[in-house]
Amino acid sequence: MYPRLVIDIGKLRANLDAVAHITKDEGHCSLMIVTKGLCADREMVSMVAQHPAVDFVADSRVKNIRTYADEVRKNGKKTVLLRIPMHDEAAEVVKYVDLSFNSELSTIKLLNEEAKKAGLVHNVLLMIDLGDLREGIFFKNEDQIFAAVEEILSLSNIKLYGIGVNLTCYGAIIPKYDNLSQLADLAARIETRYDIKLNMVSGGNSSSIYLIEKGQLPGGINNLRLGEAFLLGNDTAYETKLPGTTGDTLILEAQIVELKEKPSLPIGEVGVDAFGHKPYYEDRGIIKRAIIAIGKQDTELDSMTPLDEKIDILGGSSDHIILDVTGSDTEYKVGDIVRFTLGYGGMLKTATSPYVEKVYIK
Ligand SMILES: *Cc1c(COP(=O)(O)O)cnc(C)c1O
Repeated sequence: MYPRLVIDIGKLRANLDAVAHITKDEGHCSLMIVTKGLCADREMVSMVAQHPAVDFVADSRVKNIRTYADEVRKNGKKTVLLRIPMHDEAAEVVKYVDLSFNSELSTIKLLNEEAKKAGLVHNVLLMIDLGDLREGIFFKNEDQIFAAVEEILSLSNIKLYGIGVNLTCYGAIIPKYDNLSQLADLAARIETRYDIKLNMVSGGNSSSIYLIEKGQLPGGINNLRLGEAFLLGNDTAYETKLPGTTGDTLILEAQIVELKEKPSLPIGEVGVDAFGHKPYYEDRGIIKRAIIAIGKQDTELDSMTPLDEKIDILGGSSDHIILDVTGSDTEYKVGDIVRFTLGYGGMLKTATSPYVEKVYIK
């Protein structure tokens, strides 16, 4: 059935080999693979869990992690929760997650209580905000950082596993030697001041990997967390392709349900579209318009690229996407399949939509 997402496990494995080589062999970092971009797809996760270079498997949602915690642990790797936990999920976190990212003492104390009840020690990575302004204790508030460290060290069932930063998410701040070395310095000062060893100093996501190739990843950084770099082969700092990777690991396929020649300009007074936006239309004269049976409920229109380069995406609504196939060399008919590669947003939505079937190439 269509629409469907064709997931090429072999290509994903090749991407993983490539980013593992950069991160571990060249960057001397441990490797955390992030599964949320493909909604923790089970076949993808199995391949990741069995890959010898992967040290940690991470997601932002406990709901995803609980589907694969057993398999990841069985393969000798740790599960990681990236999103700061909700108070309400503390019990679930200590059960399914080996390492959680945190920035609030009240939550860490709840994790301590739950870990005590479960008779285990829970690992915590303290997030530091270096200016991207999403999660973490603000780096200039050193008093708060040291107070948090002290408090964490006093908890019986929590281990301070390390510190980390997230960049290029909200503020779109690019990781550089300068900002990441502040994290590395901070880690060194925490170790000296409290006479402890931090296992992990986590230097960011797919926007940090480019620093390895440039020889600019500060020495104290010993972990990277990679989602998009692995899934789509992207360095997300400068939008380059990482060496040895491909971006066609996932192909979205949708079926043409209508194909007609019509004008390119709508006729009548223009109001707002189905999503309340005032649309803009380009006059291309009479064009060959194909409707495919997929819409904004399933995908992100500006995050999909037709494999047929002579097709243009004109727009769409919840359940329809309209294509201009006038210039194509292919004589499309109703019932034909149109194929697309995806960007991050398109991948996230198609992988999450219950209306998009998944098929695999092994
Ligand atoms: C999503 C996420 C990642 C992975 O991001 P990519 O850009 O896909 O590599 C890493 N760390 C945190 C905290 C995240 O939320």
